[in-house]
Amino acid sequence: MATKKLDITPLYEWGMFTEPRPSVIAGPCSAENEEQVMETAKGLRELGINVYRAGIWKPRTHPGSFEGVGAEGLRWMQKAKREYGLKISTEVASEKHVFECLKFGVDLVWLGARTTANPFLVQEIADALKDTDIPVLVKNPVNPDLDLWIGALERLNRAGIKKLGVIHRGFSTFDKIQYRNDPQWQVAVELRSRYPELPFFVDPSHMAGCREYIREISQRSLDLGFEGLMIESHCNPSAALSDARQQLTPDQLSDLLYNQIKVKDNDSDAPEWKENIDQLRAKIDVIDENILYALASRMKISRKIGEYKKASNVAILQTSRWDAVLVKVVEKGEEYGLDEKFIKAVFNAIHEASVEVQNEIISDSSSE
Ligand code: PEP
Ligand code: MN
Repeated sequence: MATKKLDITPLYEWGMFTEPRPSVIAGPCSAENEEQVMETAKGLRELGINVYRAGIWKPRTHPGSFEGVGAEGLRWMQKAKREYGLKISTEVASEKHVFECLKFGVDLVWLGARTTANPFLVQEIADALKDTDIPVLVKNPVNPDLDLWIGALERLNRAGIKKLGVIHRGFSTFDKIQYRNDPQWQVAVELRSRYPELPFFVDPSHMAGCREYIREISQRSLDLGFEGLMIESHCNPSAALSDARQQLTPDQLSDLLYNQIKVKDNDSDAPEWKENIDQLRAKIDVIDENILYALASRMKISRKIGEYKKASNVAILQTSRWDAVLVKVVEKGEEYGLDEKFIKAVFNAIHEASVEVQNEIISDSSSE
């Protein structure tokens, strides 16, 4: 499907985030009581956080878990905003939530993973946000469906929301994995390459599910060039009513941001780097052109073979022939120092495309 353009206001024009990277949104998973909201806000303000988060309505997997304090919590957040000059943000999952947020001066809202997966809700929220100028971040849907994620962005953008960005928080899996949610970075990288102008946050807290992996995920996110991080922070994590294992104290967050993660420059002015990198990239560009030329030539021959197979009534798939080709290229590849898995992946992809082209020829009745 062709990519439709989104009309996006750059992140640093939203009036709440400034360079350098990362832009940070921090705060507890849930607002629990006034003291917890205020104490955490104070701690975060002292370490230079400008945008405060807290869940007010919590989408919980099992009934009976803590489901958030509701609109009452927005009053506490508004107090934190007033006393500490913080911008405040929360998750919205319905029209009602949006109206409550607008009433209490919430500065930014986000759609949670379960909401992004539901176009009815996304549309309801987009309609409720029409004619407001409030920034909206869209978490990825729980399942790795890039179109569903993009569809939610399109709905909001069509409603006039231009201060629009995304939060990557990983995807649900049936199998138990190291992290709570599977990063599948390729999905995020694909979204970035389709919409380079779209502000990009990563949520290491929900991706990791525990404190231990927050550093490595945050670093990975910076290395991939993403602008922001949303990190859960609580004045007393072990007593948290939701997501206790993944929240950092403001002090731990400070250590993470100022000592543990490092922003690598996108570029450097060092003459040695400039000279070498330009030349090396130019060489890579030429080699890529050669690869494309070789692939196109190969495909032309495949097509010819397809025509012969059709004329001679021979089956397309010649498994023994393909097995022999694979053995040969793996051997040759090894001679060149290329990894077997890599070679197999590349050649299997080439073979698949080839079979597809031949299938088209065989089933095309117009050439009969
Ligand atoms: C949250 O940010 O508190 C939250 C519920 O996240 P997610 O939608 O990513 O599960
Ligand atoms: Mn949470």
